[in-house]
Amino acid sequence: MEIAKYSFYPQNNIEENDWEHILYSFFAALYKNGQILNKYLDVGCSEGAYTLYCRIAEPESLDGAFYKDACWEAYNALLEKSRAKPQFEIVAPIFDASTCNCGTPEFYVLHHPILYESAPVFCGKCEAMVPLYRLPLLKNAENYEPLLDWAREYLSYYAIYLNSYSMGKKADRMLYSVSSSLTKMGLRLCHEMALNTGKEFLYYLGDSESAIGIHKHKKVGLKEAGVFRYKYLQEMVLS
Ligand SMILES: [Zn+2]
Repeated sequence: MEIAKYSFYPQNNIEENDWEHILYSFFAALYKNGQILNKYLDVGCSEGAYTLYCRIAEPESLDGAFYKDACWEAYNALLEKSRAKPQFEIVAPIFDASTCNCGTPEFYVLHHPILYESAPVFCGKCEAMVPLYRLPLLKNAENYEPLLDWAREYLSYYAIYLNSYSMGKKADRMLYSVSSSLTKMGLRLCHEMALNTGKEFLYYLGDSESAIGIHKHKKVGLKEAGVFRYKYLQEMVLS
């Protein structure tokens, strides 16, 4: 993972509100396409230029080669109101946060991105994050929002689990029970993604003792069309 600096140059005569709407629409399109990893963004403005500092999966993450239609649409709208082409550069790699380089992973794991605000899909072989834009889209989806929604919901329950005495038990059940609505939502995604990728797509269930992926946890996998098949494994695949 890398920290990138992305600079934008609005035309001099554009209303600030209009410009910010166009700019943030572009950021949203990149985020939903997995090209920017953090939802909450730091944007600076100085001397007529806007600068975004963001986290990305790999040095080429921001390339137009990964754009979907919505990204091009937002980019073209931005370009139309810019006095110069946007520019990006890599500032630094993020310490101890890797991205999968396996090409096509043997299998995938839907896994909570607790340690870093990152994509929720991991390579089953090297255990590193897989950038979402490398994956096929879910049926009828224009972007990767369904996967990102699951991850955000997971993180919301995790925050409650850690911080709330009164709601902690409910959150614990949501996170670690096979039959919770959150788990079912994740399993449905795994099921669809297994069909889409043609690879096994496991669901990381974990338990309250191994929330950050420490030892001995359970994974739940499902494969065949229409059948929820749970597979419990004790060995550590992700850590
Ligand atoms: Zn890998």
